Amino acid sequence: MKVLVVGSGGREHALVWKIAQSPLVSTILAAPGSAAISELATCHTIPVSDLDGLVDLARAEAVDLVIVGPEVPLCDGLADRLRQVGIATFGPSKLAARLEASKAFAKDFYARHNVPSARYGTFSNAGEAKAFLDQFQPPYVLKADGLAAGKGVVIVSDRAEAEAEIDAFLSGKFGDASRTLVIEEFMDGEEVSIFALCDGEDVLYCGAAQDHKRVGEGDTGPNTGGMGAYSPAPIAKPELIETAMKTIIEPVARGLAAEGSPFQGVLFAGLMVNADGPRVVEFNIRFGDPECQVLMMRIEDDLLPYLEATATGHLADMPPLSWTAEPAITVVMAANGYPDSYEKGSLIEGVDAANLMEGVVVFEAGTGRNAAGQHTATGGRVLNVTASGETLHYAVDRAYAAVDQINWPGGFCRRDIAWRALKTH
Ligand code: ATP
Repeated sequence: MKVLVVGSGGREHALVWKIAQSPLVSTILAAPGSAAISELATCHTIPVSDLDGLVDLARAEAVDLVIVGPEVPLCDGLADRLRQVGIATFGPSKLAARLEASKAFAKDFYARHNVPSARYGTFSNAGEAKAFLDQFQPPYVLKADGLAAGKGVVIVSDRAEAEAEIDAFLSGKFGDASRTLVIEEFMDGEEVSIFALCDGEDVLYCGAAQDHKRVGEGDTGPNTGGMGAYSPAPIAKPELIETAMKTIIEPVARGLAAEGSPFQGVLFAGLMVNADGPRVVEFNIRFGDPECQVLMMRIEDDLLPYLEATATGHLADMPPLSWTAEPAITVVMAANGYPDSYEKGSLIEGVDAANLMEGVVVFEAGTGRNAAGQHTATGGRVLNVTASGETLHYAVDRAYAAVDQINWPGGFCRRDIAWRALKTH
């Protein structure tokens, strides 16, 4: 099978790494890919925003399956374009992608389909939004309607601050993404991410993970794209997964199909869990980054037939995925300064040595190679040092031993990934 993976980050490196192990794959192409991905796939320097270029490539190369990693091209309609020319695609249509592209759409959709989520209101008028705050106790949760690269949510305890944020959102703090605003009830509990493949009709559980969004140890400091993740998530016991599949994932899949926008790809449910059960914080329409990296480490089966069955509507024929019992963790190494401004181009040594360690794979999220072939940093989140082990403790120790092999004065990582799970287990 000839496969094209769209994207260039650590998530796509992990997907390509997993697909490359499939006996069914003949050729892997990537667009635009990366220096690390080019070790496993033929990269074509077409940006993910160039939908025409991507469709042309898929046609010219007569690929059998396209796997789209990031949300932006999906929200722009890449999967629709590919399906229109008869190419099987793992990734939802533009209409189904509204689940992530518009929080106002998503909240109304949950309400229409009785999917448990926080009480909310949607506003484009500041006065009405401020008055709505009366309905809640602090902390106040404010969300930009549109995509804001994981930064469009503000949670504040002070009423005056909340009102100032409402003004800032509506006057374009996140551009057009925040000209509409969702205000919702604050939910207490523990967060977990649940993944499920969906072929337009049937769903198939595809793992659970927990991530660390804040930049600082102890979950402090500003939000990031994610500083680390681990799987399995101890909170995701079989009963919780069953409840989440029945009360959240299945109604969402059914609802999208019933509204004429069947979902083909991976549903990523961000849930808040407390004594009342799981409730939706948000849905994403693609694999999490860095959650994907730990899921790929733990899936025992050949993933490619599952991705193909998702894209072609045959998930009902597939048995449940099998998982190693070994937990996996990924530690994100980021450029100094991230998530604010950071320098590019710094030299990174020791990645190859880390990769040689047992149970360790370094997925590369933002790296290049200099003229001497050495690793250099090209992004904010740069390396995903991923390890599995007999227990979570072993996996964590291995991952940090691998981090210690890496000599990168220009970067940093959190030293406490999986702290919550380690504390309770
Ligand atoms: P991303 O796509 O990066 O996950 P996002 O910008 O789409 O983030 P959300 O996932 O909706 O935003 O929210 C970001 C974080 O804010 C959540 O992971 C959660 O920690 C917190 N959060 C969001 N909504 C609520 C809520 N109603 N109650 C409590 N915490 C919340």
